[in-house]
Amino acid sequence: MPLRCISSEGDELSFEHDADSWAALRERNARERHLSFTCCNAGVILKTSSLGTRYFAHQVRGGCDTAPETQEHLRAKTIICKALKDAGWIATPEHRMIDAAGVCIADVLGKRSAEASKGIAFEVQWSPQLAEITNARTVRYNGHGLRSLWFMKRPMPLNSRDVPVTRLVPTDDGFDIYIPSEVLVRGAEYMSSREVADLASWRRCGTLAEFVRGAVEGRFRFGLASEFDVRLTVGGVANWCYSCGAEVQPATWIVLDLGHLNPDFPNILVEIHELGEVEGSLAERILESINARLPSVGGYRLGQRKPKESTATYLANICGCGAFLSRSYLPYPSDKDRVLLEFDLKTNAEEVAPFYEVRDRWCFIDRANPPSKPMLGVHGFGIPRITLTRLQASSSSADGPLGKVRHVGYADIETD
Ligand SMILES: [Zn+2]
Ligand SMILES: [Zn+2]
Repeated sequence: MPLRCISSEGDELSFEHDADSWAALRERNARERHLSFTCCNAGVILKTSSLGTRYFAHQVRGGCDTAPETQEHLRAKTIICKALKDAGWIATPEHRMIDAAGVCIADVLGKRSAEASKGIAFEVQWSPQLAEITNARTVRYNGHGLRSLWFMKRPMPLNSRDVPVTRLVPTDDGFDIYIPSEVLVRGAEYMSSREVADLASWRRCGTLAEFVRGAVEGRFRFGLASEFDVRLTVGGVANWCYSCGAEVQPATWIVLDLGHLNPDFPNILVEIHELGEVEGSLAERILESINARLPSVGGYRLGQRKPKESTATYLANICGCGAFLSRSYLPYPSDKDRVLLEFDLKTNAEEVAPFYEVRDRWCFIDRANPPSKPMLGVHGFGIPRITLTRLQASSSSADGPLGKVRHVGYADIETD
């Protein structure tokens, strides 16, 4: 039990020592043999790994059920213990539990206080482990009143509320934590193991210590927040009304950003006519909010119109003179676009659902280091890469010269 042993004074925790106190403990134990393990009767010796981790080792191994650990495993456990302690939590490495199936040992038990009945089992998995085993061990910890949180060296893009799995990546001075990004949440089962392993498909959540801190502060959470602000960005282009000649700026697209409480959910790109097709109260409120602001900014408001050649109506930009801009004359999002409006609306998961087939996932909230968000279309469709590139460029050219809206045919759009 390498980070913890016992003496007559209680638990002895290796991560609480510095070099001096560690040397003093070693001397005293050599003199008095006052340290012992709870797993077996082996003598205790004090060691420091080549990675600098202090730990207790069995003087003679044999007849003990605890498995030997790698240096990385020891180091990761030490970092977790220190991070818990720094956060004011109580860390118990190698926490032994007994149930009908025998003894099981959690790598690190974290509890908010000594009296807390519940806790988190922090599990460092350095060797590969079958998903069924991970599930079974999680269920077993649940039986002891513990949630589990897995740190795995092998990329395991599991998207499960019940079995939170993160990826542990060694760095020069410890480990970084990654969680699956959009591409893995949506399509891990269709990807090769090489693609799954590619760190570009993962979202970095800081160092192991920073992540543990976030987890105990409730910043690692599953699914959308119950209530949150959605940030609406409305883009448009410069144009003249063909009928009255007024300089106008029709709104052509909207981006919904689900905000800092949902950092690992993608943004949603909605073309203006699509807004009219989305049902529900959020679409209605967005339309109202746009119409409260767009006339003074763009000279247009949005309303349902039926073009001559069509049998169906759609949401279109309508000039103050009454003329409306046909959908077929709206350009695709491009770097000629400008941001016309930005505003927030308070919303919830239920209201967002008609825009986007929400695939719940784990989020790590870290306002100082927010991840860059991917963008999806309404109903979760992908956005052509060229559209994205142009959109990203649009904010920098918001003051560009007025240009006539041109018709962009489908052939101009690259899809991937
Ligand atoms: Zn032992
Ligand atoms: Zn007009």
